[in-house]
Amino acid sequence: MKIRSVELIPVTLPYLKPVSDAWGVYREVHCGIVCVTGESGLKGYGEISLAWFGGVHNMCRDAQAEWVPRLIGMDTREITRMNAVLDQCCTFSRRSLLVKAGIEMAVWDLRGKELGLPVYDLLGGKLRDRVPITGGVGMLAPEEMAAQAVQAVKEGYEELKIKVGLDEKKDLDTVSMIRNCIPDHIRLRVDANMAWKDRKTARRMLDAMYAYGVEIAEQPLDYHDLKGLAWLRDNTHCRILIDEGIWDWRDAAGYIAAGAADLLHVYICEAGGIEGARRVFNTAGAFSMDCTIGSMPEGIVGACAAAHIAAAMPNLSAYPSDIRGFAVFGDDVAKTSMRIQNGYLELPKGPGLGFEMDEEKLEALRADR
Ligand SMILES: [Mg+2]
Repeated sequence: MKIRSVELIPVTLPYLKPVSDAWGVYREVHCGIVCVTGESGLKGYGEISLAWFGGVHNMCRDAQAEWVPRLIGMDTREITRMNAVLDQCCTFSRRSLLVKAGIEMAVWDLRGKELGLPVYDLLGGKLRDRVPITGGVGMLAPEEMAAQAVQAVKEGYEELKIKVGLDEKKDLDTVSMIRNCIPDHIRLRVDANMAWKDRKTARRMLDAMYAYGVEIAEQPLDYHDLKGLAWLRDNTHCRILIDEGIWDWRDAAGYIAAGAADLLHVYICEAGGIEGARRVFNTAGAFSMDCTIGSMPEGIVGACAAAHIAAAMPNLSAYPSDIRGFAVFGDDVAKTSMRIQNGYLELPKGPGLGFEMDEEKLEALRADR
């Protein structure tokens, strides 16, 4: 089926309540929704997830003017060819990958709807019906973080991800407090978001945290410090999960070659789309390495794409992924959502990415009017 039109729409999604980490506090998210219409009139949707960056208006406007004309008339069966065209559009800025991902995701959604198949079937079929998810503990006062941890355990999460990195004493007090509030079998990981200033600081913190049962350290050092991360991997008991350091498969290859990762955290948006994410998984898989899936503050559209990759990749880690960002919004563009039950994400049902767009909400949340 030929692509008849592509529209890139900046939208603002409000959080239910503010979200915080080592970088700041956030009340809403700016992202883009891509609508690809085929010649049959069917529509596919994708999300341009921007993480904490701004600039969605410009990105949508520029891609609408420069990229979209090259896509009109292309066939939805030819995603490989379309990815090559999109690669030519991508500039040196990695932000281009975020736009590419939103467009590519929309074409997968449309292709699935044309065939009446979920996207995971187009990726080789689902290997699991549900995906383990971490319970999130944001960066707050220690007592509030402990309360969040207790609540997450009550909801059935079996592994908690604790944001750390700004204050060493507070971080250790918090992890200790959380450990004392929850059952022994609940696993812990910490995400420093690159905040520890050097390898020895990170080692000292992780040695102390390991005593409280912290098994995984997510991006403990700056993403450029591959040598430090490799050293840390050899000199602590924690597994090193690389997040900020991994965008596409080239980054994955670099980290694996440097011996700097035990696990890779994959984002559809940073990888430049569903095919790009699959390439990161495949690159890791060639070295018997597993991946987890990260969560941008992305809405239901981006989260559904992540769920399909999670369903279909053979080397999705048994350690939980983070596909839960969609649950923290006060409003979103779809009529349907996904459900996290007892710490597991249930796969979306239906053709394409498996959500039903709410055109009225999309109109109400768009940020360019
Ligand atoms: Mg992270």
